[in-house]
Amino acid sequence: MNILEKIKDIYAEKKNICSFCLGRMFSLLGTSTTNIERGKALLLTTLMNAHRKYLSGTHSEREQAINCLKALAQNAHYTPAQKILLKEGIEYEHHAEEHKCYLCHNIFEQLHTFVEPILKEIKDFEFDNFLIGTSLDAKILNKEDSFKAKLNLFEAESFKSHFNREMGKLLSETLKKPSEFNYPDLTIICTLGYDSFSIELLIRSLFIYGRYKKFLRGIPQTRWPCRECQGKGCEHCNNTGKMYETSVEELISPEFCKASLVEESKFHGAGREDIDVKMLGSGRPFVLELINPKKRTLDLDRLKTLINKDNEKKVEIDYLNYSDKNEVIKIKQNAKDTKKTYKALVQVDQEINQEEFEAKLEKLKKTLEGSIVYQKTPQRVAHRRADKVRKKKIFVIEGSYLNPTSLEFIIQTQGGTYIKELISSDQGRTTPSFSEIFEIPLKCEKLDVLSIDY
Ligand SMILES: [Zn+2]
Ligand SMILES: [Zn+2]
Repeated sequence: MNILEKIKDIYAEKKNICSFCLGRMFSLLGTSTTNIERGKALLLTTLMNAHRKYLSGTHSEREQAINCLKALAQNAHYTPAQKILLKEGIEYEHHAEEHKCYLCHNIFEQLHTFVEPILKEIKDFEFDNFLIGTSLDAKILNKEDSFKAKLNLFEAESFKSHFNREMGKLLSETLKKPSEFNYPDLTIICTLGYDSFSIELLIRSLFIYGRYKKFLRGIPQTRWPCRECQGKGCEHCNNTGKMYETSVEELISPEFCKASLVEESKFHGAGREDIDVKMLGSGRPFVLELINPKKRTLDLDRLKTLINKDNEKKVEIDYLNYSDKNEVIKIKQNAKDTKKTYKALVQVDQEINQEEFEAKLEKLKKTLEGSIVYQKTPQRVAHRRADKVRKKKIFVIEGSYLNPTSLEFIIQTQGGTYIKELISSDQGRTTPSFSEIFEIPLKCEKLDVLSIDY
């Protein structure tokens, strides 16, 4: 059956189908035009075909042509068809009922009525681009599906994608902002029914990259909820709901939250140092995720100055830049491929003289530099980490003798090495270890991260 006969079938159903919806039924044909253009062209061609048959066809062809013209005039409310019939003095029925499209109830013709409610909903948000999504009422969906099935229409586009595109175009013109399909700042979800319309917004998080230094021992990287009450507040935590009074996260995040008008944020660090370890050098990379931001353009220089001033001698941030979700994944994955340099102050269990130290240091360097150590999950973290053996590479070790019971080491290792255990051996769980090679129990007293190289 050719296309024009299909059009006749559609309107013989005594149903009004608007040009938008008619065009949508044949979307896979004559692409790179619009549904409305396609719909109008189909109506006009059907009309012209019928008109010719009426003017120069056989008797039965004229009968068919009149039926077709009537269907277009009565059901499609197609003015050119009405005018031909009027001119030829052929009567047709004027349907008194409103010109309501059977499929869309004129949603496409009245798209502009949805603009106002959308604008109202998004007015408080800063965004550069957006995407329209639709959640369609089952009534619309079912009607469309059974219509297509009954008339064997196999080349249609879905109602949803048609609506998304048209609404997107209209909104883009109104806002003078483009649609964005991969990472839209704003996703506007329209819940659409024949008589209902509501909007839900999905706001892309704002990601800020930076590096932090920690000059203070005794604070964790991120807020640590109380183990006893899981953050509700109890006697154990002095009703603070947390294990430590503050954290790197809590010192850095609030100003960013204030500036971007968010209530919730997440701190993603490229690995983490222990609570009692300083983070020095050029700092540790982090990405701060600001959730549901109303502002996306922040004065990063001002924030840096403000935060560094407020946290003098505690925490310092630098290298701030706008970032994205992929960077969060990247800094997490890269953490184990980095080289880290530590400074460790080590206590010796029994006195040792300088000569002995030099000899043992030489043995230490020979054994460990460029080698792999095997670390079973340390006892101190065994309650929250899977028990397994990690292989870590040691690059460089430098040592200095301070006094008979204190030594200092500069150690460069692969990211994720447990340094305290590398020194103490953790009762043989790390091997080889400094204690094992020195043949004296050694203990890491103080540890600083001097640098993280990428
Ligand atoms: Zn329609
Ligand atoms: Zn508590």
